[in-house]
Amino acid sequence: MTAGLAKASKQSAGENKKAVFSALAARFGDRFSVSQALREQHANTLTWLGCEPPDAVVFAESEAEVSDVVKLCAAARMPIIPFGTGTSLEGHVNAPFGGLSLDVSRMNRIVAVHEADLDCVVEPGVTRKQLNDHLRDSGLFFPVDPGADASLGGMAATRASGTNAVRYGTMRDSVLGLSVVLADGSVIKTGGRARKSSAGYDLTRLLVGSEGTLGIITSLTLKLYGIPETILSAVCPFASIEGACNATIAALQMGLPLARIELADEVQIRACNAYSHLSLPEVPTLFLEFHGTAQSAREQVETFAQIARGEGGEDFKWAERPEDRSRLWQARHDAYWAARGLRPGAEVLSTDVCVPISALADCVTATRQDIDSLGLLAPIVGHVGDGNFHVMPLIDPAHPEERRKVQAFLDRLIERALGFGGTCTGEHGIGEGKISYLRAEHGSGVEVMIAIKKALDPLNILNPGKIFALACRASRGPGPC
Ligand SMILES: Cc1cc2nc3c(=O)[nH]c(=O)nc-3n(C[C@H](O)[C@H](O)[C@H](O)COP(=O)(O)OP(=O)(O)OC[C@H]3O[C@@H](n4cnc5c(N)ncnc54)[C@H](O)[C@@H]3O)c2cc1C
Repeated sequence: MTAGLAKASKQSAGENKKAVFSALAARFGDRFSVSQALREQHANTLTWLGCEPPDAVVFAESEAEVSDVVKLCAAARMPIIPFGTGTSLEGHVNAPFGGLSLDVSRMNRIVAVHEADLDCVVEPGVTRKQLNDHLRDSGLFFPVDPGADASLGGMAATRASGTNAVRYGTMRDSVLGLSVVLADGSVIKTGGRARKSSAGYDLTRLLVGSEGTLGIITSLTLKLYGIPETILSAVCPFASIEGACNATIAALQMGLPLARIELADEVQIRACNAYSHLSLPEVPTLFLEFHGTAQSAREQVETFAQIARGEGGEDFKWAERPEDRSRLWQARHDAYWAARGLRPGAEVLSTDVCVPISALADCVTATRQDIDSLGLLAPIVGHVGDGNFHVMPLIDPAHPEERRKVQAFLDRLIERALGFGGTCTGEHGIGEGKISYLRAEHGSGVEVMIAIKKALDPLNILNPGKIFALACRASRGPGPC
């Protein structure tokens, strides 16, 4: 820490905010800002939760800078909200207690690619598309693909997944090791480059999905995969949403090695047609991808076509040319923006649940019936190969009763998913938006989570007000949780 920072850290709590900010301004220059527009941009929730801006934003460019910022904030008991690209959907980057948004997007170096070992080391601000562009000529790729071009640090922090998870797993499966700055500014390394290890507690898995509440990720070691010889994409409309789900279940139960299987209901297809200039039949539809050798990929397509026909699937179309595949998948990745286009000016709740695959058809069908009986406009899309689906109710802000209906719908959706043995979120995380559902899912396990949080962050300065509603008097009145 520089002399200026050290001096600032000794100030009394009440005076600290000013002292911390002047120390940060001196150290970081124009990489520190209190501009209102920048603060609001760093708390943009992309969903119906309100924006709670931090008091300031700082852009770190190295692990040493992250560590210095954390030491300074710890001394001042000031909340720190790590920020990657701000695409999380449950109010994760909001600052309900004020404090500092610590933006790591400029820590975007790809440190090493070990082609022979199929792994790489990256800084947390590298985005998934940046990594794949870098890897293109090596014949390798990184498979986890949330709809947004999110940072890999943010993706690890939310335990993200995407369309490839049915074949390649989620961030839980993809992260081999991490470097992390803890709440006192010290740095630890977790995991390593070995494919497996039985050495002690699995701190990597603890930190993946911790939403910036236990530490700040400054480096990630990630698994990579070879780009398959043949990739075939297909689209298959169904007479009913139940048929589409049943075809998914049957394909998985017979062990078909699907690389991607995504559901979009008729409302979402209408949105995609309008937004992405497509002319798909406006019925429940599965988007699929098959990876393998030329022969095995074609065999998979044929097997799936047979399954689909038995479940009311029609007019099964497949594409091999990269440009046709990209167009199809871009439409799927743009589903959120397409859905918003159905009702310009509406607020949107983008929620996700996940159930065991045998319960998928029942859970999705009951959810669609609930939406229809409430008269809501709410497309359903999903990574159905994992039993994971999203619902996006569009809410007119001028009608508070719509909000109430959507809240009741959300409560029932989660109760239904838990009733089937599922989870209140398969990939978006808890953030602020799902705090109230955590205990219903984990019971007294939540106490263990809180004990871990208190052990690693006794002052509750790391992203307070997320995952749990622990009392926090930090920054706008400091104190431990
Ligand atoms: C159009 C759209 C489609 C999406 N589709 C998917 C999807 O298919 N699957 C999916 O899983 N998600 C999806 N999401 C949600 C979002 O993209 C993911 O949650 C993503 O992982 C967030 O990454 P980020 O870089 O934007 O993180 P941010 O939003 O910046 O941060 C998310 C959380 O991680 C913490 N964090 C960020 N960086 C770090 C770090 N270096 N160290 C510690 N904590 C950190 C933050 O404090 C915050 O709690 C989608 C979002 C949008 C807008």
